[in-house]
Amino acid sequence: MTISAQTRLAAVIGWPVRHSMSPELHNAAFAELGFDAVYVALPVPEGAAAQAVQAMRAFDWLGFSVTMPHKAMIIDSCDDLTDTARALGAVNCVFRDGDQIIGDNTDGSGFVAGVEHDFSVSIDAMNVVVVGAGGAARAAARALTQAGAGDVAIINRSADRAAKAIAAAGGAARIGHRSDLGSADLVVNATPLGMGDTAYSSSVPFDPSVLPDHAIVADLIYHPLETPLLAEARVRGLRAQNGVSMLVFQAAAQFERWTGRDAPVETMIGAARAVIG
Ligand code: NAP
Repeated sequence: MTISAQTRLAAVIGWPVRHSMSPELHNAAFAELGFDAVYVALPVPEGAAAQAVQAMRAFDWLGFSVTMPHKAMIIDSCDDLTDTARALGAVNCVFRDGDQIIGDNTDGSGFVAGVEHDFSVSIDAMNVVVVGAGGAARAAARALTQAGAGDVAIINRSADRAAKAIAAAGGAARIGHRSDLGSADLVVNATPLGMGDTAYSSSVPFDPSVLPDHAIVADLIYHPLETPLLAEARVRGLRAQNGVSMLVFQAAAQFERWTGRDAPVETMIGAARAVIG
């Protein structure tokens, strides 16, 4: 593609950020639609999110993806927040609405869209267990309740963070117990247990043998692509997905905020697979 005076700019801001796969996903999507824009990774140190937002305003950027350590600190620099970003206290995307810079969070809706896409199911009326209560779990729990899940039970190591996740979900989720796994339609691992290159790389967050045969297991981890939990779920014959799906669909929602166009999701999935190999 030719970069011209018409070309618009988008970026991911974070620290560190050079490992991000977002440039490949968004640039593949821009190319697929012939949308004249380029997406780059900008290393922005902790405490400098406000300057990044000023630059976005001054240089007329399309928008930013926002990753650690800026997700909470960028809130004060936005002109307004979506209800989701406000409830979660975290922004993963900023976009323009006229002269306003709006902070949004697409992690939860991206997770739900990924499950519905990958398994051709509706979250509506599902019994869901979320294991973990950090930022990703909160986003997922809120989106699951908004998508009409019948029950969202949160199992977490520390009770106070589980309570915060329930509050972020507008009170529509509840504290879960291991016994809830026996009647779950969907179980989400939102802990780092099973993540590669960590002390927990061979750990599983729960035993999938207790799940019903029809249950779906969603692991938010994408390094490795098959965690020990997903390997056990596969041996049991359960439907399962890794975190690539959430990664792609949260990016697709950001792309749509910036461009006003439907994201070419299959192209973005292909780009993610190509990067991960
Ligand atoms: P976080 O805010 O640090 O939360 C981590 C959660 O895991 C907390 O609830 C924590 O429990 C729990 N946990 C940590 N170590 C544990 C252990 N040894 N035993 C039991 N529970 C433990 O992290 P996050 O940002 O939510 O991320 C969670 C996972 O989602 C990570 O694997 C991350 O890579 C993944 N993720 C994926 C995507 C995607 O696009 N696919 C996006 C975001 C995150 P306490 O509350 O008790 O500390």
